Amino acid sequence: MNIWAVANQKGGVGKTTTAITLAGLLALRGQRVLLVDLDPHGSLTSYFRLDPETVEPGVYQLFQAPGAPDPMLLQAAIRATAVENISVLPASTAMATLDRQLGAREGMGRILAQALACVEERFDIALLDCPPTLGVLMVNALGASGHLIIPVQTEYLALKGLERMLRTLTMVERARRSPLSYTIVPTLYDQRTHAAREALEQLRILHPDHLWNGIIPVDTQLREASRRGLPLSTLSRVARSVTAYAALASFLLGEPAPVMAAGNA
Ligand code: ADP
Ligand code: MG
Repeated sequence: MNIWAVANQKGGVGKTTTAITLAGLLALRGQRVLLVDLDPHGSLTSYFRLDPETVEPGVYQLFQAPGAPDPMLLQAAIRATAVENISVLPASTAMATLDRQLGAREGMGRILAQALACVEERFDIALLDCPPTLGVLMVNALGASGHLIIPVQTEYLALKGLERMLRTLTMVERARRSPLSYTIVPTLYDQRTHAAREALEQLRILHPDHLWNGIIPVDTQLREASRRGLPLSTLSRVARSVTAYAALASFLLGEPAPVMAAGNA
């Protein structure tokens, strides 16, 4: 099972959208996808019509149970969705209290990795939608994943969030004792604006080795997909963000690049 975390310590940069749209595309390819919502706001959970105020059991209960993960609990926490091949492990708002409860306790950094190891046979890929804050959930996500996707909104202040995320990564890598590979994904790109073009140029200069060579464009159809509670790829295979995310999925899976990188600016 591949495990990819989607993280950036800035809100509204497209983390949840990236996780859901990639999940939709991978599911269409026949991959069995597990989406894990690690953000106490529960946007991904709400997207799939579960209520983060009341949903139980979910990620919160996994972190409450001491010791090795209980297979029955895990079984109950993972839910099928209306989309074939996509299951969700939901977030609840109670997760906001986890840091206060567990932050300083030993051995809390591997809970998610242990839980995912239990479902390794059931899924081909797990996508972890991270909170924008550094805490026990983010540390678990970075500890469990084999690759990190960092969506960066192409606007003036985006680079600050990225630098903070990369500092966090360095810190977590010390605990992992192995480096975590990562891909920076420019999101919400509007090529008509000077700010977007400039932010992309800055990313190219500062992070040439980790920057994906495509972009995710601004796409209003994503809003309609969100209203319907479906990944956009389920509604349209040709929407501009869908073709861009499809190119990203191919890149992340290590497939050879097409002659023309889709969505390239
Ligand atoms: P995050 O998880 O980082 O907070 P979201 O994925 O929830 O960010 O995105 C924030 C908002 O921006 C949402 O309303 C989402 O629908 C919208 N959005 C994300 N990506 C795009 C895009 N490429 N084009 C248009 N709107 C987008
Ligand atoms: Mg989000």
